[in-house]
Amino acid sequence: MNRYELWFNEFHTEHVTFSFRVDRQLLQKTSDFQRIEILETPEFGRVLILDGIIMCTEKDEFIYHDMIVHVPMAVHPEVKKVLLIGGGDGGALRELCRYETIESIEIVEIDLDVVNAAKEFLPTMATSYDDPRVNLIIADGLRYVRRKENVYDLIIVDSTDPFGPGESLFTKEFYGNCYKSLKDDGILVNQHESPFYGQEAREARLTHRRMKSVFDLSRVYQAHIPTYPSGHWLFGFSSKGLDPIKDFDADRWNALGLRTKYYNTDIHVGSFMLPNYVLELIGELS
Ligand code: SAM
Repeated sequence: MNRYELWFNEFHTEHVTFSFRVDRQLLQKTSDFQRIEILETPEFGRVLILDGIIMCTEKDEFIYHDMIVHVPMAVHPEVKKVLLIGGGDGGALRELCRYETIESIEIVEIDLDVVNAAKEFLPTMATSYDDPRVNLIIADGLRYVRRKENVYDLIIVDSTDPFGPGESLFTKEFYGNCYKSLKDDGILVNQHESPFYGQEAREARLTHRRMKSVFDLSRVYQAHIPTYPSGHWLFGFSSKGLDPIKDFDADRWNALGLRTKYYNTDIHVGSFMLPNYVLELIGELS
């Protein structure tokens, strides 16, 4: 008997692929911006893929979304207004909506088709679009922040990689406009690529350099995300002064009683302790 197997492959470099078995394809659609796919898989549950690159999987999305949301939320003393750029899958939005102190969240996603796909096929991530504090704006994040000044306590850039529609979200112009649109104690957190393989490592170095040239403080932190290239992933924490360790209040965050699957207040501190090869890459090895 012939048995056909379906496998998904993502090239992490010219010489390395990451692959997993696929049960079936739930969606394939080409939007105005990118090719959107949702796959059902035995190991990772449902997987969102944009232009052939894994964005998130039901199995490990909690790591990325915990770390992009709870780290800045545990540092800033009172986040009320949030701007989330990208993040159409809804995972970061879901984590933000757990904070009662947040008054408004503008989510600026360029591609309505990603939002619709997430609402239909990723019900564990797209849980919070109906929260009354959420305002979904379908627009380019770069253009959107140009018009804003002194508005936000927190900006989260949950973007695709620095090519295609996400490219503009890695530019100095964009970071400058984010700086201007943050309040005096504002924080920006962004996904920062992987330090391990050549091209992404170069992007990570460049991104850190650009952030440092715009913000008063820029630090890099890390997490282990199994389905991203090499599994070793970086995030950037930039601010107008708030320090992710000195201004971090573990007791205040623990008192909120939020249950998280990855983030905790020890991980918070540990995630800013970087291996030497990463410190060297980003020019911070003393
Ligand atoms: N966690 C993911 C990762 O790092 O692989 C990011 C996932 S999230 C789905 C990224 C989103 O950013 C996509 O839905 C994409 O449409 C959106 N995006 C890309 N460029 C954008 C832009 N210029 N403005 C707003 N959203 C953008």
